[in-house]
Amino acid sequence: MMAVASGVSLADHNTLGLQASAEWFASVRNREELDAALNFASERQLPVRALGEGSNVILHPRLPGLVLHMATRGVQLRKDDGRRALLRCAAGENWHQLVLWCCEQGLHGLENLALIPGSVGAAPVQNIGAYGVELSEHVVGVEVVDVASGAVEYLPAGDCGFGYRTSRFKQAGGENLLITAVDLRLDREASLCWDYPSLKAALNNTSPTPEELMQTVMAVRTQRLPDPAVVPNVGSFFKNPIVSADFAETLGTRYPALPVYPAAAGSTKLSAAWMIDQLGWRGRGQRVVAVSEAHSLVLVNRGADTAEAVLALASAIQASVLDEFGVALELEPQLLGEAGD
Ligand SMILES: Cc1cc2nc3c(=O)[nH]c(=O)nc-3n(C[C@H](O)[C@H](O)[C@H](O)COP(=O)(O)OP(=O)(O)OC[C@H]3O[C@@H](n4cnc5c(N)ncnc54)[C@H](O)[C@@H]3O)c2cc1C
Repeated sequence: MMAVASGVSLADHNTLGLQASAEWFASVRNREELDAALNFASERQLPVRALGEGSNVILHPRLPGLVLHMATRGVQLRKDDGRRALLRCAAGENWHQLVLWCCEQGLHGLENLALIPGSVGAAPVQNIGAYGVELSEHVVGVEVVDVASGAVEYLPAGDCGFGYRTSRFKQAGGENLLITAVDLRLDREASLCWDYPSLKAALNNTSPTPEELMQTVMAVRTQRLPDPAVVPNVGSFFKNPIVSADFAETLGTRYPALPVYPAAAGSTKLSAAWMIDQLGWRGRGQRVVAVSEAHSLVLVNRGADTAEAVLALASAIQASVLDEFGVALELEPQLLGEAGD
């Protein structure tokens, strides 16, 4: 039986380990519980905010309204013609467990996205990506509930506004759409993407099986990214900036070693990590929060209780990158709630 509780601590619901409290909180395991929680919010005119595993949020101390923790489960094979398969996955499933299961079942395409923390329902929100693969390449559509009206809708991938680490669900109005299920298209015949430099090096330039590729991704990630269970963090704190090709060329003449990657519509993606590294931020910070020694895009929490200290370090990094390179770094995680007095 689902219960809506008041004044619930979210300290164990965010991997950055910040202290925060939800005005109201409900963990929902099925459609009935979801409907009951949405009714509760609607009767009291409360704003509703979904929370998965809290691995991509920076929480302010107070979250007004209802925080809805998605704990729904279920993976259904809806079609399988021996070449391609269609899966429907409930929002509350753990993403990495899904990737492991798919690989075991001979359903391929998600290997590069192994070990990304979080839930299935949050994966389309920032169109998770890693090692040359983005979730949007495999999404057929998502089922959503409009938390304002309670209406259930099916959004084909083309209506999800997917882009680099973004989607319609991150834009204004998108926060009202609660993702309840994600439909994925996967391949029985693997066509693997392993030309990302760090993967290629780890594979000694030898074509892998899907299982080998997935294990390699996991090994490379484990080496490079601090485990949030040990050192609280939310993975990359900044997106790689996308700039015009002209601007990237000018910058490249000043900084010939700056890594650049072609991006959509003639634009260029720059390496935020490289710029942060150049400015000597790696390992630096304050006593309670610092840039990881292992990866300069990751901020690690060594004892900060509130978002303030984390955001102060992020602002200092943004200011120094803007000053040196003329590039504005955008935060990757979502900032939720209200700051304290
Ligand atoms: C160590 C580490 C490594 C990471 N590596 C990567 C990486 O390689 N690539 C990458 O893309 N990301 C990466 N991330 C970020 C994170 O794993 C992903 O963004 C993940 O999809 C977040 O899932 P979550 O369930 O924890 O979402 P949460 O943090 O709970 O929520 C994130 C946002 O999605 C919204 N949301 C959550 N569930 C739903 C839902 N069902 N419907 C609608 N909105 C919802 C929330 O309101 C919030 O705005 C990493 C994070 C960590 C800690």
